[in-house]
Amino acid sequence: MRTPGEPARPLHQREEVYELAADVGKKYVIIGNGIAGTTCAQMLRKNDLACDIWLITNEPYPLYNRVSLPRFLQGVLAEQKVMIRTREWHDEQRITLLTETVVTRVDTDERVVYLDRGGPLRYDALLVATGGWANPLRVPGAEGTKRIYNFVTLDDTKEIIAAALESKHAVTSGGSFIAYELTEGLNVRGVHVTWLMRGPYWLRTTLDETGGRLVDEIARRHGVDVVHGEEIQQIVPANGVPGRVITRTGKEYPAEVIGVGLGLTLNHGFLADTAIERKTGIVTDEYLETNVRGVYAAGDVAEFYDTMVDRHHTMGTWDNALAHGRVVAANMAGGHEPYLDVPTYTSPLFDTNIAVMGIAETNNPTLESVSRSMPGDKGGTDYRKFFFKQDRLVGAVFIGSPKGRKKVVELIRTAQRYATPAERDGLFAVR
Ligand SMILES: Cc1cc2nc3c(=O)[nH]c(=O)nc-3n(C[C@H](O)[C@H](O)[C@H](O)COP(=O)(O)OP(=O)(O)OC[C@H]3O[C@@H](n4cnc5c(N)ncnc54)[C@H](O)[C@@H]3O)c2cc1C
Repeated sequence: MRTPGEPARPLHQREEVYELAADVGKKYVIIGNGIAGTTCAQMLRKNDLACDIWLITNEPYPLYNRVSLPRFLQGVLAEQKVMIRTREWHDEQRITLLTETVVTRVDTDERVVYLDRGGPLRYDALLVATGGWANPLRVPGAEGTKRIYNFVTLDDTKEIIAAALESKHAVTSGGSFIAYELTEGLNVRGVHVTWLMRGPYWLRTTLDETGGRLVDEIARRHGVDVVHGEEIQQIVPANGVPGRVITRTGKEYPAEVIGVGLGLTLNHGFLADTAIERKTGIVTDEYLETNVRGVYAAGDVAEFYDTMVDRHHTMGTWDNALAHGRVVAANMAGGHEPYLDVPTYTSPLFDTNIAVMGIAETNNPTLESVSRSMPGDKGGTDYRKFFFKQDRLVGAVFIGSPKGRKKVVELIRTAQRYATPAERDGLFAVR
């Protein structure tokens, strides 16, 4: 896979220049063939048979399901079940898919996209749906040592599986979903995992101590050593792969494989020469258009104006990226459709489930929350937490039974208000 860090070949070395036929309709270029970009391409074609659509990715594959990668890692899902689209599908849809091709620069005055091979490409409307690159582990001993993994792509997953088959001990590090998915995947593969978290509990931007402790208990029940207040300080390699890990407080753990979930850096560096506003992500209005006309952003990389909570934010969920793809296609084609949705993130959590709906941010001072743990229907514990902005329900987290999730999403979507403690209490009974 070619990454943006690698220099683009100079223009004179490029063997081909993609010239768009003069007699076709509107010209769309989409950077990133994840669920946001591919959905957008599909919707553009559905609504306009004459338009010209180019879909570009540095990865070697047509769209695959990132949400399925944890189950592929665990060995419960075959690789072909992870794939969503084939190259033939793109041919049938007359969507030109350029794989293993990096967009290196965009000129918004000339409306041209530069590629590291082939190109350049002109556009009438441009979508940036480039997601993020995983932040690497930068500690002594990491550089040049193999079997230290992020977990974002299908290729990452294949490498982790190969390493897991040859390993007895792993250390994972991180307090969010990716670290948890790595921990569970390696654990299911029979590798003993020590899971280091810097914070006092997992998912600390969303849960509270009770919810966090519940997740610890679930992981420990499955044989994982969960260690809080710790992070990897150094790796001691043996023969080019990890041998052991030394933590911030000087503890040592054996590890032939290391998995890290240290967050993402959103991919918009190639827009540096443009006037497109960028903060954490690419800033858009509620129509997913940037401050530069004709340029749109969608999915994980978009820092979009969310009318549900009257502010800009990013949202790293599959459903959000898919819904963005639909809305942005309508707007790139001349529509004026605001994005209005309640994003939800659902994931298995060892033998239970977690669902995060809407805006669920423990560290957001403008939100209030109530939470409770209750005995679950089938044994175990159900944990629920609800978030309010000025009495309006804006988010929720369920660990355990997902019953009532759809109703709660609807209550969030329709901006229901819960002013009194008794009204808020009633939410725990929603099933
Ligand atoms: C392991 C894992 C598990 C997950 N589990 C869940 C889950 O259970 N539930 C959930 O809701 N979400 C989950 N997510 C998050 C979800 O997958 C993402 O929110 C979603 O896939 C984002 O889609 P996207 O289209 O915005 O971007 P992406 O899928 O990230 O696609 C962007 C594409 O653009 C490419 N690209 C970037 N820069 C360039 C460039 N300059 N030139 C060319 N191509 C470029 C990237 O390589 C990538 O292929 C998970 C993610 C991972 C990694």
